This record gives sequence, structure tokens and C-alpha cells, in this order.
Amino acid sequence: MLSNDMLHQVNRPARYTGGEWNAVRKSWDDTPVRVVLAYPDTYEIGMSNLAIPILYELLNRRSDVLAERVYAPWTDMEAQLRQQKLPLFSLESRRPLKDFDIIGFSLGYELGYTNVLNMLDMAGIPLLAAERDESYPLVIAGGSCVLNPEPMSDFIDAFIIGDGEEVTGEFVDAYREAKGDGKDRRLLRRLAAVPGLYVPSLYHAEYHTDGRLKSLTPSVSEVPMKVRRRLVERLPPPPPRPVVPYIEVVHDRGAIEIQRGCSRGCRFCQAGMVYRPVRRRPPGQVIQAAGELISNCGYDEVSLLSLNSSDYEGIDELVTHLTRQHPGLTLSLPSLRLDKSSVKLVGSLPTRSRTGLTFAPEAGSERLRLAINKELGEDKLLETAATAFGRGWTSLKLYFMVGLPTETDKDVSAIVDLVEKVRAEGKKASGKKPIIRLSVSTFVPKPHTPFQWAAQESEATIKARQEILREGLNRKGVRLSWQDPATSWLEAALSRGDRRLGKVIRRAWELGSKFDAWSEHLKPDIWRQAFADAGLEPGFYAYRERPLDELLPWSYIDTGVTEDFLKRELRRAREGKATPDCRTDACNACGLETTDTCLGKLKN
Ligand code: SF4
Repeated sequence: MLSNDMLHQVNRPARYTGGEWNAVRKSWDDTPVRVVLAYPDTYEIGMSNLAIPILYELLNRRSDVLAERVYAPWTDMEAQLRQQKLPLFSLESRRPLKDFDIIGFSLGYELGYTNVLNMLDMAGIPLLAAERDESYPLVIAGGSCVLNPEPMSDFIDAFIIGDGEEVTGEFVDAYREAKGDGKDRRLLRRLAAVPGLYVPSLYHAEYHTDGRLKSLTPSVSEVPMKVRRRLVERLPPPPPRPVVPYIEVVHDRGAIEIQRGCSRGCRFCQAGMVYRPVRRRPPGQVIQAAGELISNCGYDEVSLLSLNSSDYEGIDELVTHLTRQHPGLTLSLPSLRLDKSSVKLVGSLPTRSRTGLTFAPEAGSERLRLAINKELGEDKLLETAATAFGRGWTSLKLYFMVGLPTETDKDVSAIVDLVEKVRAEGKKASGKKPIIRLSVSTFVPKPHTPFQWAAQESEATIKARQEILREGLNRKGVRLSWQDPATSWLEAALSRGDRRLGKVIRRAWELGSKFDAWSEHLKPDIWRQAFADAGLEPGFYAYRERPLDELLPWSYIDTGVTEDFLKRELRRAREGKATPDCRTDACNACGLETTDTCLGKLKN
């Protein structure tokens, strides 16, 4: 059992004590289905995740289910638990994970995969699904990474593909119905019959001699050839009383998802492709949710979240309403479109809510912005900067990427030129040179995007391009930060991998990998060794351009956006042609025309 002595020996003991405000405790003996929601990173990061509170509320609302939480213990607590031979436990009841019926992992980042293995091991649960019998919990996973579930398919019994609000109830019903059968193939077959559930052990993969996937076929007749993403057409109200942490977490405020999906169609953006179509939460629901976060959680700061908050129809009115109704409330709008109206919107907030302005041009040249479908003329960009500086901002944060498909050194030098022009606008507006913070990430080709076939640039090219920026922007008033290319090749290999990568992930964990998302913990040499030990080549997954007719490991996951649409978008990228936003222009026939809330359908 967790002792005070152990808590005294670790950093931030409140990560492990539970008992937070709004945490739910239900009777263990009186509740037939016990679920633990597992997040493969620290408490502070997991408590800032938007999906866990939704699932926690959905599950605990049912009288036949109890849902508790567990986060990856930091290395100091792991050492304590292993030393005392204590199994990993949930926060609410402090029961060992092994006592639960279901462990549900949320997979939002590929570099969290080894933490999943570490958590199972700390719980005393065999890592391989094939080695777990009915005495062990069913291990499931959801989240954006499972849109290519293959790399984790050795370890997970079933993946939930799509919106939790839509499928969780059916999953629990199917589980209850089949529970008596134990975790054998009958339970798994019953689960595989639920639309949106993928049971990897019921599929068989074959490969060509050159390593490409030849086929992935169901090994039993009742399971579907393709698993369709579940889609909630109208967002239900958000959780009215999410758990409030006692310690500071990454996003230490209330959060309301005002909209899901984005219609802009940026070709590198997985979220923009796989969360289509746009579903807007009605303003009345947002207003009610803000009131609940204030009264049920005591928050005085609330974030209005969306992939693009300024695209929310009626955002100005909503913000005005909330600031009038709750004069003491600080509002934040983290993802804003790069235009004057966004600057005005933030400028209209009370002073305490006027945070720094962050925009994402992503590429320096107009040519490359057209190729990635970030249709944004330089004039508009500079006009936005001028508006911001004219309204009193003295600094701007700008996000760029390097290594984008079709990018040349010239495009990267254009970032330097653009930053100079932005600085000149600042000087013109205020007489002083502004501070420009640049955050430069490396492009990672992601499944289900038009760039899913693209090769990732080599580490050497990425380093050379980062050097262009370092030299060109080495001046006072410009702060440059970038991502280590070692993180990017690993992310690229894991995100576009097949099920053979299970061996690599397991080997990397055996060699000591965990918390790979933390730069101080990531050990690229271990991963190289793990690939070599598994007889696989990371470049095959990360640096290889895939022919358009290659069978991709995630091609049997149907997000609703068609492969034809993605190919068309790739062709337009190569031709340097933008595709207009389907909310303001015509429907682009991405494949979702048949959904009830699809904008294309609503407009016609
Ligand atoms: S079907 Fe048309 S309107 Fe709907 S998301 Fe796709 S492109 Fe946009």
C-alpha cells in the first residue's frame, strides 16, 4: 500500500494521492464493470488532456460502471514501487490495475508508447495481448494515434476508433454481454462486431519480400475488412464537473471544447483531416459549461478550445457574452487564425485576458504555403502583424515547420526574410524593434493526410535547414527554438509503422526507454539498437516515399475521408494549388458528404 514514507521520498507527491475535488468514488463491490483510464505520461500532462474527463464522466454516469484514473508514475515513484514490490494502482481507490476489468489507454503521442509497456509491467500484467488470459483486464486504447493502431497491436486487445461519446456506451454493453465468456476469442469477436472497434488479433498481416505490407485480412469471417471511425454528429454538453487537480498542471484552467474538426484543409495536419467535419458546440452550451466550471470547479480562467477558435461562427458575440456575464473571468483563445480579426478579438478581451499573440504561418514562402494549403498571402500576414503592434503588442510568437514536402533551402531562407519584415512592421508601429519568438518544428508525415505518402527529410538536411535559420536569425530581439530531429525520425517511424514495430517498441522498453516524449529522457541510440535487434530499418518507415499504390498499414481504418481525396490533395500540393475552405467555399467532396452535420450537405 502507498505509504507516507514513500510519498516523502518523491517529487510532487500529490501526483499519486488522488482525492481531488470532483473525483468520483463508487462502491467497488456493487459496480459490475470497473474501468481504469490510463494516461501514459505524468499527472500534470494527463490532467490537461481533454479526452479523459469526457470518458470519466460518460462512464461514471452509468450505474453499472465505475471509472478511475492512473497516470505514468515519474521515475522516482517507479523506483519506490518497484523497490517495495507494489503494483501500479489507481488514484481513486488505490486498487492495483490488475483488479480492474478494463484498462483504457489514451494514446495521443507516439513517443508515449514505451510508457504504456512500462505501466503494464508495473501493474504486473503481461505486455503481450497473446500472453494475457481471462484473469487479466482487457486492455483497450483510443486517441489520435490509434488511427494507425498497428505498431501497438501486440499489446492492445481492442482499439476504439473515433469519438468516445459515440462508441463508449456500445462498447460497455458489448463487454457486459460477453463478460461471462472471459477474455477469449468470443469476447474479442463480440467486441469486433461493434462498429468502430478494431481487434488486431483477429487480423493477419503478410508482407512482400522487400518489407512492404502485402495484405491485412480478417482471420475470422464476422469481422469487417475496414473499421469505420465513429463520429458524433452533434457534440453533447461537456463534462459539468471535471476533476480539479491540487497541484499546478500544464493547462491549469477550465477548458471548453467549442468546436471539433477544422475545414481549412492544411495538408500536413492530421487533426484537420481526421476530425472532419466541423461540429460546432452551440453558444448556449458553451455559456452553460463556463458557468459550471466556475461554480463546480472554482475556476477563474477558462480556455475556449478548438483547432481554430477564430473559425467558430459567432466567436465575438460569445466572448462578449462571457466577459459580461462573468466580469472576473479570464478567457483564453489558444488557436487563432492569422488575420486582423483575431487580433481585434484578443484586443477586445479585458486586459487580464490579453495574453501574448501566437500565429502559425508554418512556411516562409508563399509558394510553400500554397503547397501545404496554408493559403496566406504575405501582405495579409504583415497587415496582421502591423495591426497587432499598432494595438500595443510588443512581441509575437510564430510557429514554422522545416522539412515540408517540396521545401528547398530558398523556402527556409524566406522564413528569415519574413521575420525581418515582421520586425520592420513592429518598428514602424511603435518605434521599437519587437521581440519575435520562433518555434520551429520538423515536419512528420502522418497517416490519413495528403502527405501520408511523403518521405521525411533526412536528419542531415533538417540540421542544415535549422542552421540557415540559426545564422539568419542570430540577432537581438529574435528568440529561436527548434525540435531535435532525433525526435522527429522516431515519431515518423512509429506513426507510419506496421505491426512488426511491436518488437521494436518492446525491445526499446527492455533497453530502458521510457518518457521518450521528454527530450532529457529520449535515447535515440537505444531506439536504433531496438530497430537493429528486431531486424528492421527505421529509414524504411521514416525516410521512404511510399508509392501511391502501396498498401499502407492503416489503410483498413476508414476515417470517412477518402483516399481519392487525399491523393487529389497531394497532386494539388505538387502543383502548388490551394484548395479553398469548404465552409466558405464549395464542398471539396472529401468523403463525408453523407454525414448529417456535414457542412457541404447543410449548405446544399
Ligand atoms: S464533405 Fe465537403 S463540406 Fe463536408 S467536410 Fe468534406 S469537404 Fe467539407
